[in-house]
Amino acid sequence: MPGFARRLDNVLPSATIAVKEEADRLKREGVDVIDFGPGEPDFNTPENIKEAARAAVARNLSHYLPTLGLLELREAIAADYRRKHGTDYAPSEVLVSCGGKNALFAAAMALFDHGDEVIIPAPFWVSFPEQVRLAGGVPVILETTEEAGFIPRAQDAEKLITPATRGIILCSPSNPTGAVIPDDELSRWADLALERDLYVIFDECYERFLYDGRSHASMARHAARLRDRLVLASTFSKSYAMTGYRIGFAIADRRVVSAMATVQSHDATHASSIVQAAALEALKGPQDDLTGMVSEYARRRAIMVNGLRSIPGITCLMPGGAFYAFPGVAGLYERLGVSDSFGVAKALLEKARIAVVPGEAFGINGYVRFSYALATERIETGIARLREALG
Ligand code: PLP
Repeated sequence: MPGFARRLDNVLPSATIAVKEEADRLKREGVDVIDFGPGEPDFNTPENIKEAARAAVARNLSHYLPTLGLLELREAIAADYRRKHGTDYAPSEVLVSCGGKNALFAAAMALFDHGDEVIIPAPFWVSFPEQVRLAGGVPVILETTEEAGFIPRAQDAEKLITPATRGIILCSPSNPTGAVIPDDELSRWADLALERDLYVIFDECYERFLYDGRSHASMARHAARLRDRLVLASTFSKSYAMTGYRIGFAIADRRVVSAMATVQSHDATHASSIVQAAALEALKGPQDDLTGMVSEYARRRAIMVNGLRSIPGITCLMPGGAFYAFPGVAGLYERLGVSDSFGVAKALLEKARIAVVPGEAFGINGYVRFSYALATERIETGIARLREALG
């Protein structure tokens, strides 16, 4: 065998997938595992969106599209951003992609060179550092703490900046912590990016999942001054329960989008034409399903977090957004006879038949991620099992 490309040497396979595989193996053996692992809505795709996909098949929307995507969809996305954030992006500044992941990957490939350093706050979404590495760049991790609500502060990033620093990747609401970066902090990050001549990639894939009356603070609010250095990335996966459809997008200055489109033109070409028609309906059709899903998640969040907090040895912040709880579990090490969160995740799968994702996957030890995108009864049973397993 001739061996693999060196660029893979430092790239880790997704640790969230490793846990899922073990949980799936147990499920195949007939074990009733309560799976708090998946990062996706448990709801079905709304009917009007499915119907739009069927109609696209029927009307033979089956030919190649422009790399950037279906014009009507890009117009709808640009209009949506104008309405929500007052931005002036044109449809030619929208790149429709195969999920938010591909948009973020195209950004990393287009913007980061060999040796470029990219600041990524931890806990981070698993793919951020690996995408930077695949592009040849170097992830530079900015640690955040539970005490500070896991909010990354621009002021703390200053000491990490070197002549090789080229960009910053921020995510709000955050996967895995659910932390929401307030607008004044986003403003400080924007100042820093301008002062130090850096790109800002802002992942807002969970923008619709906000609780307690919060509204979404987007870096788009600072788009006017960050015009030539901002990439906004989002997705239909979470908001419209369309994870398997693989559809997301990025918005950026024409020159940046064009560089990203060059990358996409040589890998995916474009997102599926059928799926783009479905995404157009998602944006333009009724939004009631979305509102219903978010209020259901709010209910589950309370059950999840209160349940976790009721267990001695566990601490848990109330997440402001997304659909994850990210409890501190270092207080369980002794009881479980383990020394890290990977050990906690393994022990919980063995002893309580519940699957969670260890913090190491997100660049932090001492925490695990519970998704509450599952039925209330399952959350309650999971908490009961946890309590029982911990004595
Ligand atoms: N960004 C974050 C923070 C995520 O959690 C995910 C999915 O889990 C994505 C991006 C990518 O989602 P998709 O590629 O399904 O749009």
